[in-house]
Amino acid sequence: MLPLVALVGRPNVGKSTLFNALTRSRDALVHDEPGVTRDRHYGVCRLDEARPFVVVDTGGIAGVDEGLAGATARQARAAAEEADLVLFVVDGREGASSLDDDILRWLRKSARPTFLVVNKTDGLDARAALAEFSRYGFADVFAISSAHRHGIDELLAKVLARLPADGDAEILDDDPERVRIAFVGRPNVGKSTLVNRILGEERMIASEVAGTTRDSIAVDLERDGRKYRLVDTAGIRRKSKVEEAVETFSIIKTLQAIEHCQVAVIMLDANEGVTDQDASVLGAVLDAGRALVLAVNKWDGLSTYQREQVEGLLSRKLSFVTWAEAVRISAMHGSGLRELFRAIHRAHASATRTFSTSEVTKALEIAYETNPPPVVRGHVAKLRFAHAGGENPPTFIVHGTRLRTLSDTYKRYLENFFRKRFKLIGTPVRFVFKEGE
Ligand code: GDP
Ligand code: GDP
Repeated sequence: MLPLVALVGRPNVGKSTLFNALTRSRDALVHDEPGVTRDRHYGVCRLDEARPFVVVDTGGIAGVDEGLAGATARQARAAAEEADLVLFVVDGREGASSLDDDILRWLRKSARPTFLVVNKTDGLDARAALAEFSRYGFADVFAISSAHRHGIDELLAKVLARLPADGDAEILDDDPERVRIAFVGRPNVGKSTLVNRILGEERMIASEVAGTTRDSIAVDLERDGRKYRLVDTAGIRRKSKVEEAVETFSIIKTLQAIEHCQVAVIMLDANEGVTDQDASVLGAVLDAGRALVLAVNKWDGLSTYQREQVEGLLSRKLSFVTWAEAVRISAMHGSGLRELFRAIHRAHASATRTFSTSEVTKALEIAYETNPPPVVRGHVAKLRFAHAGGENPPTFIVHGTRLRTLSDTYKRYLENFFRKRFKLIGTPVRFVFKEGE
């Protein structure tokens, strides 16, 4: 499992500012995409790329309600009770308040490992700010400023030292021939129906992969001569009638599945279009840099007119991920599955393609000559050479000078140019710009 860190504290101490400092995407371009929603309470911290963990901002807790309604509030509270580590955030400017005391009592009851994080210490004497809270008796105390990113690295190092490793990631990654896929989406889109159908058809060769903590964390299967591993399907497959009725959308499970896969298949319900919850799952996939296929399910139930309507709606709502293939399927009837697996294969092949330095530099030269960057306040960026910087997602490192003057529009142009030239379908693409001769 991905480790879980919960931010707990009264309103206004800076939890969401800290949440953003920990979870903000490295990929500024992705951040700006209109149509992508990010859940403001759940995110993945990837400041150390090798050790991602889930961060949950619990908002109001212990009766200190901040307006997190219903299911989300219950999930957030449950998350804090199960967290591997709690960060108890307090306000270094205002000092300890009775609300902080209430939360402290709640934390003592829940008995999770806890760090005390004194925020807003910018411009304050850190030692005095910590002393104010010394009566709380925490062994691990940190003076930080979330807004200015002071003390975040030190805090992160101590958090990572305290968190367990994600053992599942290693177990799941032991067979490079298998494409790891995850079916994600909000409740009722048809994930269980699809997974059961796929496994039903493949009953003879499907075999469960043993995990450490649970009986099964993945299922292996072969299709059309290719090997796959379905990750984090245990919850999907075992769904009972009772669970079906009460199931709430488990964001943590979804983040987990996305993290553990190479290709995320986001399932949509053709009858519902693209909801906010769908957009937030999409945001999580983009943040993780995973290859993506959209499976538009329940296609069977639609009339020709409805199908046209849905096509139009999808192309509008998903215009920012035109690189992802959308496959129309019916999990119930098993139609479209061959095309779905072909799309998964194409996405994986694109995501893991390798590039020589000469072909990447050549692509950069042609892109540059076809459309040089515009002059910005008398300066113009010079792009010198490029090379591959990693796969899954494909990453290109571009070297040059005055790169700070490159606009997002120009970066997008480069991305689209590379996509076309290298026929990259179904995967995000990253660019890293390195200043220097
Ligand atoms: P939350 O209610 O606990 O999520 O708190 P927010 O993150 O919304 O922050 C509440 C207010 O405190 C906002 O106006 C922030 O700009 C401010 N704030 C957050 N972190 C810091 C910090 O490190 N220093 C200062 N000076 N202000 C901060
Ligand atoms: P999950 O919550 O995403 O796992 O969704 P389920 O697999 O439990 O499906 C939710 C409901 O949608 C169930 O009543 C299914 O029978 C129905 N359903 C699933 N796939 C299809 C499909 O392809 N066509 C139609 N018409 N209904 C479907």
